[in-house]
Amino acid sequence: MQISPSVRAVLVPDDNPMHPEFTCIYLVGAPGRQALTIDSGEAIDRYRWFLKGYLAAVEREEIAIAAITHHHADHSGNLKWAKEELGAQVAIPANGRPLLKGRIPRDVQALRDGDIIDLDGGVRVQVLATPGHSVDSLCYYIEEEGVLFTGDTLLGSSTTTVWDLASYRRTLRRLLELPNLRVICPGHGRIVRDPRERLQMYIDHRDMRERQILQVLEGGGALSSWDIMLQLYPDIDPRLRRAADNNVRAHLKQLAEEGRIREYPGIPRRPPSPRAIQRAEEHARQRDLLIAKARKLETQKRREELRRQENPPTAEWKEPPRYELIGTAADAAR
Ligand SMILES: [Zn+2]
Repeated sequence: MQISPSVRAVLVPDDNPMHPEFTCIYLVGAPGRQALTIDSGEAIDRYRWFLKGYLAAVEREEIAIAAITHHHADHSGNLKWAKEELGAQVAIPANGRPLLKGRIPRDVQALRDGDIIDLDGGVRVQVLATPGHSVDSLCYYIEEEGVLFTGDTLLGSSTTTVWDLASYRRTLRRLLELPNLRVICPGHGRIVRDPRERLQMYIDHRDMRERQILQVLEGGGALSSWDIMLQLYPDIDPRLRRAADNNVRAHLKQLAEEGRIREYPGIPRRPPSPRAIQRAEEHARQRDLLIAKARKLETQKRREELRRQENPPTAEWKEPPRYELIGTAADAAR
């Protein structure tokens, strides 16, 4: 999908409840020139097929630079592959390096706030450090075309999770002030055609959550973040409860730092003993063995069934029934 003169989007269907609808990969660059990709999906074939198919469709063999918006695995899973298979230079957030261990090639370009990526054909991509969703979140901005790439800082079809709320709110206000902003290309979900309204909505949404949390606490007594989450989201999909709890916690952290609420430290559970860990590992190993064996038996069974369809029924008969015409051939014809 063409977004602007030098930006194309690949929207890959996604069934993760955290990423409604799509995970997006972007190809940036003047037509027929060097290309930069922004995010490249999880380390599963689906994303590689889409990326390769797309490159083939635009008649490009190579990606010059594969950049990411932050270290999370659903954005950075294919970096080594992009280097090895597509010959791309990998570009990452400078402070994301320790978080990307094992997923990046040895030599990478480290990006910092204010850096400019100059592509052939005069395409200038600004790098903005936008912490909040994660400690190393970056946004990329092509001011001439008004296109902002937000990764998970702002999503197309849902709200996002935050690592540090105070930073996140600062980031949203910074993005709202970008000159010439026309379209937001998010890491997941649909392309955002009303960027300022959406950013303002996100800011308002956070303000509203904060008010709701304070309201729940006004009921009196000390509550855990989970208690508050259950009151705020009574009908939530159970698979999203942990994410919602993290959001509530992020608000509580900010409120506590601002001295608006009091925090009673919790008591962590004692970590399991080495013996218990060993037992659990042994249990998991046994289960995996059993699963592998069951799979093998299933294949075997299917093969036997197929063989029965193809082969003569010699197992049932020593001598199968035979059939012959009664009388002469001439009688039978009459
Ligand atoms: Zn993320």
